[in-house]
Amino acid sequence: MMDVISVRDLFRVYRLGNIDVHALNGVSIDIGAGEFVGIMGPSGSGKSTLLHQISLLDRPTSGFISIQNLDVGQLSDRQRTKFRLKHFGYVFQDYALVPELTTEENVSLLPMALGKPDEDCHEASIEILGVVGLKERLSHLPRELSGGEQQRVAIARAMVNQPDIIFADEPCANLDSINSKRILELFRQINEENGQTIVMISHEDEDIEYFDRVIRIFDGKNL
Ligand code: ADP
Repeated sequence: MMDVISVRDLFRVYRLGNIDVHALNGVSIDIGAGEFVGIMGPSGSGKSTLLHQISLLDRPTSGFISIQNLDVGQLSDRQRTKFRLKHFGYVFQDYALVPELTTEENVSLLPMALGKPDEDCHEASIEILGVVGLKERLSHLPRELSGGEQQRVAIARAMVNQPDIIFADEPCANLDSINSKRILELFRQINEENGQTIVMISHEDEDIEYFDRVIRIFDGKNL
């Protein structure tokens, strides 16, 4: 299996006034193309910090990250933004939908950002919202949707540009067990049908059965 993400000796130190917080202390991991990987570990162990580095939302203090054989540390901020838009999808704990936009508009925003024609954007948005079971909610605003529905909009948004990798930071943290299960099954389905690599942070042991593999983080290091 080809590695889609390779990380070597990753360190991230946050400077808070005079205090250094060592969030990552030498992480080295490989993730294969098409893997559905869970990142697990205690609160404060560095899971989100790691996800931010490999999803290009932050830059490490030191260490090496390659994505699809590209040394992403060499990219400019502008190149990184473009790379993220083209290759990555993101799902966050708090859904992060635009409150003033409808379900359909929240999703079509992403292909629009890639400069695709409006009609194609709407078409792609509606199609993917069908996949996540929200065909009947296209004109709803986020506040008119349940938490589970909002997270499915966020997943549709993460998928609409057909990214190679989806990053999810505790996507079920604010959901009840039925909705959590539905979201995990949706990720599993996406992973199996589209072959997308999925990297997801979780602290729920029940989630393990959905993952191909678990990467355990403790005190800023992988075990
Ligand atoms: P986890 O996701 O496993 O809960 P985090 O990656 O969020 O862990 O945090 C790892 C450590 O880094 C914690 O001690 C946290 O307080 C600290 N930390 C996280 N983000 C910041 C930040 N922006 N500034 C300073 N310290 C941070």
